[in-house]
Amino acid sequence: MRVTPWGGVGEIGGNIVELEVGEERILLDFGQSFSAGKEFFMDFLQPRKSAGALDYLEFGLVPPLQGLYHPDLLSLTEFSPEPPRYSGVFLSHAHGDHVMHIDKLDPSIPLYMGATTHTILQANEKAGKTFNMGDHEKIVEFRTGDSITLGRNIAVRPVHLDHSVPGAYGFIVETPDGALVYSGDLPFTGPPHAYRGTL
Ligand SMILES: [Zn+2]
Repeated sequence: MRVTPWGGVGEIGGNIVELEVGEERILLDFGQSFSAGKEFFMDFLQPRKSAGALDYLEFGLVPPLQGLYHPDLLSLTEFSPEPPRYSGVFLSHAHGDHVMHIDKLDPSIPLYMGATTHTILQANEKAGKTFNMGDHEKIVEFRTGDSITLGRNIAVRPVHLDHSVPGAYGFIVETPDGALVYSGDLPFTGPPHAYRGTL
Protein backbone atom coordinates (compact mmCIF):
# COMPACT_ATOMS: atom_id res chain seq x y z
CA MET A 1 0.00 0.00 0.00
CA ARG A 2 1.31 3.42 -0.91
CA VAL A 3 -0.31 6.54 0.55
CA THR A 4 0.45 9.97 -0.90
CA PRO A 5 -1.17 13.02 0.67
CA TRP A 6 -1.35 15.72 -2.00
CA GLY A 7 -3.01 18.18 0.36
CA GLY A 8 -4.35 18.53 3.87
CA VAL A 9 -1.02 17.89 5.64
CA GLY A 10 0.31 20.68 7.85
CA GLU A 11 -2.73 22.75 6.96
CA ILE A 12 -6.46 22.71 7.47
CA GLY A 13 -8.35 21.67 4.34
CA GLY A 14 -7.31 20.88 0.82
CA ASN A 15 -7.61 17.17 1.46
CA ILE A 16 -6.50 14.95 -1.40
CA VAL A 17 -5.11 11.55 -0.43
CA GLU A 18 -3.94 9.04 -3.02
CA LEU A 19 -3.98 5.36 -2.11
CA GLU A 20 -2.29 2.84 -4.36
CA VAL A 21 -2.42 -0.93 -3.90
CA GLY A 22 -1.08 -3.06 -6.72
CA GLU A 23 -2.79 -1.91 -9.90
CA GLU A 24 -5.57 -0.07 -8.04
CA ARG A 25 -5.51 3.62 -7.30
CA ILE A 26 -8.15 5.68 -5.51
CA LEU A 27 -8.36 9.19 -4.14
CA LEU A 28 -9.92 10.18 -0.86
CA ASP A 29 -11.43 13.67 -1.24
CA PHE A 30 -10.55 16.25 -3.88
CA GLY A 31 -10.70 19.61 -2.18
CA GLN A 32 -9.41 23.13 -2.37
CA SER A 33 -6.76 24.20 0.11
CA PHE A 34 -7.62 27.31 2.11
CA SER A 35 -4.10 28.67 1.64
CA ALA A 36 -2.92 27.42 -1.78
CA GLY A 37 -2.97 30.05 -4.45
CA LYS A 38 -3.56 32.91 -2.02
CA GLU A 39 -0.33 34.53 -3.16
CA PHE A 40 -1.59 34.50 -6.76
CA PHE A 41 -5.37 34.65 -6.62
CA MET A 42 -7.76 36.81 -4.66
CA ASP A 43 -11.19 38.38 -5.13
CA PHE A 44 -11.72 38.87 -8.86
CA LEU A 45 -8.32 37.51 -9.84
CA GLN A 46 -9.06 33.81 -10.20
CA PRO A 47 -7.81 30.90 -12.35
CA ARG A 48 -9.01 31.35 -15.93
CA LYS A 49 -11.92 29.12 -16.85
CA SER A 50 -10.90 29.43 -20.52
CA ALA A 51 -7.49 27.89 -19.74
CA GLY A 52 -8.99 24.60 -18.59
CA ALA A 53 -6.86 23.00 -15.88
CA LEU A 54 -3.73 25.01 -16.77
CA ASP A 55 -3.81 27.63 -14.01
CA TYR A 56 -4.90 25.08 -11.41
CA LEU A 57 -1.97 22.81 -12.28
CA GLU A 58 0.59 25.61 -12.76
CA PHE A 59 -0.13 27.17 -9.39
CA GLY A 60 -0.44 23.92 -7.49
CA LEU A 61 -4.16 24.12 -6.74
CA VAL A 62 -4.58 20.53 -7.95
CA PRO A 63 -1.92 17.78 -7.96
CA PRO A 64 0.11 16.92 -11.08
CA LEU A 65 -1.31 13.45 -11.76
CA GLN A 66 -1.65 11.59 -15.05
CA GLY A 67 -4.88 9.87 -15.99
CA LEU A 68 -7.01 11.90 -13.62
CA TYR A 69 -8.26 15.05 -15.28
CA HIS A 70 -11.04 15.78 -17.73
CA PRO A 71 -9.64 15.47 -21.28
CA ASP A 72 -11.35 18.74 -22.27
CA LEU A 73 -9.29 20.67 -19.70
CA LEU A 74 -5.83 19.47 -20.71
CA SER A 75 -5.19 21.09 -24.10
CA LEU A 76 -2.97 23.89 -22.71
CA THR A 77 -1.25 21.76 -20.08
CA GLU A 78 1.73 19.42 -20.26
CA PHE A 79 -0.61 16.47 -19.70
CA SER A 80 -2.14 14.56 -22.56
CA PRO A 81 -5.53 12.88 -22.37
CA GLU A 82 -5.24 9.20 -21.54
CA PRO A 83 -7.43 6.47 -20.04
CA PRO A 84 -8.06 7.07 -16.33
CA ARG A 85 -5.56 5.57 -13.90
CA TYR A 86 -7.95 5.86 -10.96
CA SER A 87 -10.78 3.50 -10.15
CA GLY A 88 -12.66 5.85 -7.87
CA VAL A 89 -12.71 9.13 -5.96
CA PHE A 90 -14.36 9.02 -2.53
CA LEU A 91 -15.76 12.18 -0.95
CA SER A 92 -16.04 12.31 2.83
CA HIS A 93 -18.40 15.30 3.11
CA ALA A 94 -19.74 18.38 1.36
CA HIS A 95 -17.23 21.02 2.49
CA GLY A 96 -15.34 22.82 -0.28
CA ASP A 97 -11.94 21.94 1.11
CA HIS A 98 -12.85 18.29 0.41
CA VAL A 99 -14.81 18.52 -2.84
CA MET A 100 -14.13 21.80 -4.66
CA HIS A 101 -12.26 20.43 -7.68
CA ILE A 102 -14.37 17.39 -8.59
CA ASP A 103 -15.50 19.15 -11.79
CA LYS A 104 -11.95 18.75 -13.12
CA LEU A 105 -11.92 14.96 -12.84
CA ASP A 106 -12.17 12.65 -15.83
CA PRO A 107 -15.93 12.00 -16.05
CA SER A 108 -15.42 8.26 -16.49
CA ILE A 109 -13.83 7.92 -13.03
CA PRO A 110 -16.62 6.83 -10.64
CA LEU A 111 -17.36 9.27 -7.85
CA TYR A 112 -18.48 7.90 -4.47
CA MET A 113 -20.24 10.00 -1.83
CA GLY A 114 -22.91 9.77 0.84
CA ALA A 115 -26.51 10.37 -0.21
CA THR A 116 -26.69 13.55 1.88
CA THR A 117 -23.44 14.87 0.42
CA HIS A 118 -24.82 14.30 -3.07
CA THR A 119 -27.96 16.29 -2.24
CA ILE A 120 -25.96 19.17 -0.70
CA LEU A 121 -23.55 19.37 -3.64
CA GLN A 122 -26.40 19.43 -6.16
CA ALA A 123 -28.03 22.25 -4.17
CA ASN A 124 -24.72 24.16 -4.01
CA GLU A 125 -24.33 23.87 -7.76
CA LYS A 126 -27.83 25.19 -8.39
CA ALA A 127 -27.69 27.97 -5.81
CA GLY A 128 -24.19 29.33 -6.27
CA LYS A 129 -21.66 30.25 -8.90
CA THR A 130 -18.50 28.89 -7.36
CA PHE A 131 -19.09 25.13 -7.32
CA ASN A 132 -19.70 22.77 -10.23
CA MET A 133 -20.35 19.06 -9.96
CA GLY A 134 -18.85 18.29 -13.37
CA ASP A 135 -20.27 15.76 -15.82
CA HIS A 136 -19.56 12.47 -14.09
CA GLU A 137 -20.85 9.36 -15.78
CA LYS A 138 -21.18 7.41 -12.55
CA ILE A 139 -21.97 8.81 -9.09
CA VAL A 140 -22.46 6.13 -6.45
CA GLU A 141 -24.15 6.99 -3.16
CA PHE A 142 -23.07 5.05 -0.08
CA ARG A 143 -24.29 4.61 3.48
CA THR A 144 -22.79 3.29 6.70
CA GLY A 145 -22.67 -0.50 6.49
CA ASP A 146 -21.75 -0.53 2.80
CA SER A 147 -18.51 -2.07 1.60
CA ILE A 148 -17.38 -0.91 -1.83
CA THR A 149 -14.95 -3.26 -3.52
CA LEU A 150 -12.59 -1.98 -6.22
CA GLY A 151 -10.63 -4.62 -8.09
CA ARG A 152 -8.94 -7.35 -6.06
CA ASN A 153 -7.16 -5.15 -3.55
CA ILE A 154 -9.34 -2.41 -2.13
CA ALA A 155 -12.59 -2.40 -0.15
CA VAL A 156 -13.87 0.89 1.26
CA ARG A 157 -16.21 0.98 4.25
CA PRO A 158 -17.78 4.40 4.93
CA VAL A 159 -18.50 5.25 8.57
CA HIS A 160 -20.83 8.11 9.50
CA LEU A 161 -19.22 10.84 11.61
CA ASP A 162 -20.39 13.87 13.53
CA HIS A 163 -19.27 17.11 11.84
CA SER A 164 -20.55 20.62 11.15
CA VAL A 165 -22.19 19.51 7.89
CA PRO A 166 -24.74 16.66 7.77
CA GLY A 167 -23.87 13.34 6.20
CA ALA A 168 -20.13 13.38 6.92
CA TYR A 169 -18.15 10.14 6.71
CA GLY A 170 -14.76 8.67 7.44
CA PHE A 171 -13.45 5.63 5.60
CA ILE A 172 -11.94 2.32 6.58
CA VAL A 173 -10.01 1.12 3.55
CA GLU A 174 -9.18 -2.57 3.67
CA THR A 175 -6.29 -3.88 1.58
CA PRO A 176 -4.15 -7.04 1.56
CA ASP A 177 -1.42 -4.94 3.23
CA GLY A 178 -3.68 -3.90 6.11
CA ALA A 179 -6.35 -1.31 6.77
CA LEU A 180 -6.13 2.44 6.43
CA VAL A 181 -8.44 4.70 8.43
CA TYR A 182 -9.20 8.10 6.94
CA SER A 183 -11.05 10.28 9.39
CA GLY A 184 -12.24 13.04 7.05
CA ASP A 185 -13.00 15.92 9.43
CA LEU A 186 -13.44 14.09 12.70
CA PRO A 187 -14.02 16.62 15.50
CA PHE A 188 -12.21 16.06 18.77
CA THR A 189 -15.06 17.68 20.64
CA GLY A 190 -16.82 14.40 21.23
CA PRO A 191 -20.47 13.74 20.44
CA PRO A 192 -22.86 16.69 20.06
CA HIS A 193 -24.23 16.46 23.60
CA ALA A 194 -20.72 17.10 24.93
CA TYR A 195 -20.62 20.62 23.54
CA ARG A 196 -24.16 21.61 22.61
CA GLY A 197 -26.01 20.79 25.79
CA THR A 198 -28.38 17.88 25.46
CA LEU A 199 -29.00 15.80 22.38
ZN1 LIG B 1 -15.35 19.71 6.95
